[in-house]
Amino acid sequence: MEKWPIGVFTSIDAGLGVRFDVVKELKIPTVHLHTPSRQNRTPEAAERFLKECRDAGITITVMFGGFEGESYADIPTVRRTVGLVPKETRAERVAELKSISDFGKLLGVPALGIHIGFIPESPDDPDFKELVAVTQEICDYLKGNGQNLHLETGQETADTLLAFMDAVGRDNLFINFDPANMILYGTGDPIEALRKVGSRVRSVHCKDAKWAARPGEEWGEEVPLGQGDVDFEAFLRTLDEFGYTGPLTIEREIPHDPERQKRDIAAAVRLLESLKAELA
Ligand code: MG
Repeated sequence: MEKWPIGVFTSIDAGLGVRFDVVKELKIPTVHLHTPSRQNRTPEAAERFLKECRDAGITITVMFGGFEGESYADIPTVRRTVGLVPKETRAERVAELKSISDFGKLLGVPALGIHIGFIPESPDDPDFKELVAVTQEICDYLKGNGQNLHLETGQETADTLLAFMDAVGRDNLFINFDPANMILYGTGDPIEALRKVGSRVRSVHCKDAKWAARPGEEWGEEVPLGQGDVDFEAFLRTLDEFGYTGPLTIEREIPHDPERQKRDIAAAVRLLESLKAELA
């Protein structure tokens, strides 16, 4: 694969990604796929979708796990509902991730991405230890399917993420770096964070955002690529320093406005292509 192929986050029937027909229309060669809903995770559906990808020359580079009951309405709601942190749903979500991993194997995806949720900052927190244990269990299961696990950035600082990964201690555990999430959640300057974790980054989201007035308490605002506070030239330069050559996967989380979503993604492709040319 060429260096830094363009990608986009797509959704077939669940999640905030762009519709797959738009990926084909814009001739984008790679995708991150939001995991389809349970009733569509069948061998027949996998075969159908793979054929569609092959016919259009599209490679699925990461599949992202998502769960029923998750809500990104505001930061406290994320804390309560997202990922493996909520205790009430943890066991069933771990089991579901394993079945998602099996479905990913049918699709031939090399990595599964997830939001774990808000990891506690202190390694002495009993919840930190329990999350380490379930993440080890997931990594080991994925390993059996020949897959890596990519943790999405944003809900914790770079330092907390590194401490967590070191505690998990698995060689198939990596990072999906989303610079806009650092801003949206108020967890740190994205380029500084990337400098800390860059050697563990195996996939990225090219998404932009503006800082909130009270970062960490309220959401920042997700905006079209190039219109927010992420310095994408510095982002690409820093990825380059770490030898990252994988896809640049655009995320624009406005599925309620598909026309605008398509326009914004097309503009983001142009901006990334021109930055790539500039840095080549
Ligand atoms: Mg993201």
